[in-house]
Amino acid sequence: MKWQKLLRPNIVAMDPYQPIVPLSMLAERTGRAVEEFVKLDANENPYGPSPKAVEAVAKARYLHQYPDPESILLRRALCQATGVPEANLLVGAGADELIDLTTRAIISPGDVVINCPPSFGMYPTSAAINDAQLVKVPRDSDFRLDVPAITRAAASSQAKLLFICSPNNPDGSHIDDDTLRQLLRLPLLLVLDEAYIDFATATDPTSVSRLSWSANYENLVVLRTFSKIAGLAGLRVGYGAYPGWLAEQLWKIKQPYNVNAGAATAALAALEDETWLRNKAAILVQERERMSARLAKFDFLRPYPSRGNFVLCRVTGLEARTLRDELAEQGILVRYFAKPGLQDCIRISAGTAEDTDRLIEALEAVEAKTHS
Ligand SMILES: *Cc1c(COP(=O)(O)O)cnc(C)c1O
Repeated sequence: MKWQKLLRPNIVAMDPYQPIVPLSMLAERTGRAVEEFVKLDANENPYGPSPKAVEAVAKARYLHQYPDPESILLRRALCQATGVPEANLLVGAGADELIDLTTRAIISPGDVVINCPPSFGMYPTSAAINDAQLVKVPRDSDFRLDVPAITRAAASSQAKLLFICSPNNPDGSHIDDDTLRQLLRLPLLLVLDEAYIDFATATDPTSVSRLSWSANYENLVVLRTFSKIAGLAGLRVGYGAYPGWLAEQLWKIKQPYNVNAGAATAALAALEDETWLRNKAAILVQERERMSARLAKFDFLRPYPSRGNFVLCRVTGLEARTLRDELAEQGILVRYFAKPGLQDCIRISAGTAEDTDRLIEALEAVEAKTHS
């Protein structure tokens, strides 16, 4: 193909991103109503956003005007809620945008990014888009980080960027203070993705956010999102605490109107409804624990302990992919990753109590079928 030569070779070489199928499309394809599905595949908040956030969006005016390019009101509120100075806060169209922007600001073609799989898929994707060289330092079979190997990789490759997710998606493990401090001594930028930290804090008050650490480390970025706990995944809004030297540059490269007016309005109202957020985190953590205990009773499932709003399970005696498909046939959506270290796993998000009950029923049906 003559025209393909116009493309950047690293883009052509990339694996396509595997997007989720929207529920409306699944419903159309299967002849089921959207409400009949139990959606436990994307770690979304089954309760949706705070009613105050919904009301704020419904009442939003000035949608004909461009949104605030500096997200001033939201950053002011975030500063009050987190203690991070406004100058160090950047808001994005989801944490995904901030992962991309950060990578773009740091990486020239060929520079090294360290990833510790299994982890969130956007790190390798953003690395590939930016033509980084990706060095993988896999976690062990219990998803613990291999700090000596990361240290060696950082030294031998002169890596510039390291992504760490805590609680880690997909297993829910949390990085401890000592390990994090050790990694922060490396001469690279460490991006700590805290998309699920609210659930960790609800489990164990000692596993607090490291947002405040960003004041003491010039090489730490901490990312958060309104997609998971605040139930605003559809509106796309996340934020990060950045060292000043980096924030300054990111302002230059971000799209001026990256955070839309609806998203900013909803996020602001969600943040103000702190009681709602805390309450939902507690309910979801409780449901995660109840689900995990029920899952452990199936011979073919081994759930991992998790500090997120999801549980990863090893599947034995049948293919994890088959289990995913059989649950989907019953309208229960869970996540399967065709990736190294995860081929015999499924990840199940914590839903409502009713969601868990339907999941368990569906698993019992699979069990009955496999044993007959
Ligand atoms: C869901 C998720 C995100 C994406 O957050 P958005 O704000 O929706 O872009 C980021 N990091 C991790 C680990 C996630 O699981």
